[in-house]
Amino acid sequence: MASIGFIGLGLMGQPMAANLVKAGYRVAGFDLAAANLKNAGDKGVTTGASAADVVRAADVVVTMLPAGKDTLAVWGGGIMEAAKPGTLFIDSSTIDVGSARAAHELADKSGMLSLDAPVSGGVGGAEAGTLTFMCGGTAAAFEKAKPVLEAMGKRIVHCGDAGAGQSAKICNNMILGISMIGVCEAFALAEKLGLSHQALFDVASTSSGQCWSLTSYCPVPGPVPAAPSNRDYKPGFSSALMLKDLKLAQEAAAASGASTPLGAAAAQLYGMHNAWGEGGADFSAIIHLLRGKGVKS
Ligand code: NAD
Repeated sequence: MASIGFIGLGLMGQPMAANLVKAGYRVAGFDLAAANLKNAGDKGVTTGASAADVVRAADVVVTMLPAGKDTLAVWGGGIMEAAKPGTLFIDSSTIDVGSARAAHELADKSGMLSLDAPVSGGVGGAEAGTLTFMCGGTAAAFEKAKPVLEAMGKRIVHCGDAGAGQSAKICNNMILGISMIGVCEAFALAEKLGLSHQALFDVASTSSGQCWSLTSYCPVPGPVPAAPSNRDYKPGFSSALMLKDLKLAQEAAAASGASTPLGAAAAQLYGMHNAWGEGGADFSAIIHLLRGKGVKS
């Protein structure tokens, strides 16, 4: 089986690397944070002394890092020189489309294969091995990546050329942020009108207001027991990460000339929600802000 180098063993990277180990891959990992590296070691990952160290024997390298600047620093920081020719580099971080394309260029210039493959599904999906991977890159890179990604996820989608995976991710999350705000506004209005949460849910979930933010992730407790609203809005997917993705969508809209007024409004509202002190809560907790009462429940 292929040898994997895994760089970035945080909340997402650690369970992803652990699933590769479970699937039988030899995984060498590196992280700047000693505690994360040690925890990964406890899960069967061989720990390396540097990023270059863990790519030397690898057939496939996965990076799972905070932002575009980190991916470019790691991909441009000596690992192309340390890897075998033809190694496949997969970046599963959520980053801006421009940096994703620049990372592909770094790999291309060094004779490597590359894929941008951001994920949806969060920490729960990473642990369960049920992530969705949205992939951008050549057909050859995608085919080589597929079995590796299948050990960490259940839907692997080839979205197009370099940057297409990141593009799909930010477009999807822009829909999600906007739709969550719409659903929260409807519940806030229903409360003012004396309409029960359950009554609105029963009607809207089977009518034209139906959407994932309502039927799978209802922002008020009760109608959907598995939703974070039933566990005091513990994420799930945090408001801070939603803000990050909405900002990436706005950056891409500005760079490409797309008109996204509701995406811009959603970015502003999630900015307020974070500044209000709920960045660490699930993104559905934005209902607290939208109720406009200055209270958090
Ligand atoms: P995290 O902060 O927990 O993990 C990032 C890890 O990268 C940290 O352990 C950090 O020490 C390490 N790191 C940073 N720079 C490094 C470097 N130069 N060399 C080696 N290691 C380095 O973040 P996370 O929640 O695991 O998220 C990772 C990526 O996945 C982000 O881009 C995020 O937007 C995306 N994402 C996260 C979630 C989620 O629910 N947490 C969901 C979908 C996508």
